Amino acid sequence: MGDKDYNQTVKDALDALIEQTEKQIADPQNSKQISLGEICRCMRRSYYDRFERMENPQKSFAQLFSGLIRKLPYGSKEGEFSIDEIKLNGQADMIVDDVVIIFRSSDVAPETPAAGDVLYLNGCLWIFNKTEGVIVYLTGDGKHVPFSIIREKRVFEEAIRRVRVYSNLISDKKIPILEPSSECSECQYYEKCYMKKNEGKQFSLTEMFGVKKK
Ligand code: SF4
Repeated sequence: MGDKDYNQTVKDALDALIEQTEKQIADPQNSKQISLGEICRCMRRSYYDRFERMENPQKSFAQLFSGLIRKLPYGSKEGEFSIDEIKLNGQADMIVDDVVIIFRSSDVAPETPAAGDVLYLNGCLWIFNKTEGVIVYLTGDGKHVPFSIIREKRVFEEAIRRVRVYSNLISDKKIPILEPSSECSECQYYEKCYMKKNEGKQFSLTEMFGVKKK
């Protein structure tokens, strides 16, 4: 095999692919242009991505897969929804027979769809003015698990509420509050959120979320 560092070669190749496929915020300072993906996950993480961006060392297949699917010449579609002066952008991976489809990767077959994915798909249904959508989870062992949803107004109202809050925080340059979830354990901003005030003190996420040790 020689002395060549294949790990580094593969990592560099993946980094380049993700960089080319990742969708960037055109103007981070523009608080009136919000991406649906920003408010369907931890908004603090999205804020840091805009203004204090750090690469995520745990680059995932999901990131690469989503980016690649956006590059496909068929199906993938961008749309916009106006909320007063704010423009909310969303992207459907495919629209087939009036059904909006988004793909997500998952280590194991999920029993229910993730809340953020439901919020995202429902947002797409309003952006593209469709009533039916499907989230398809692709698992590591080659299965696909679909969940269908019907457009729901109250869920979209929650998305709109988050858009307004996020837009105001960007314009006031205020960092959004913590949104503790399982996302934290793989987040590149974990130390910014949890370590400063607790220097030298050890704690675990499981204790923080109230899970007792056996
Ligand atoms: S560590 Fe958690 S709360 Fe902090 S930015 Fe990341 S996902 Fe959000």
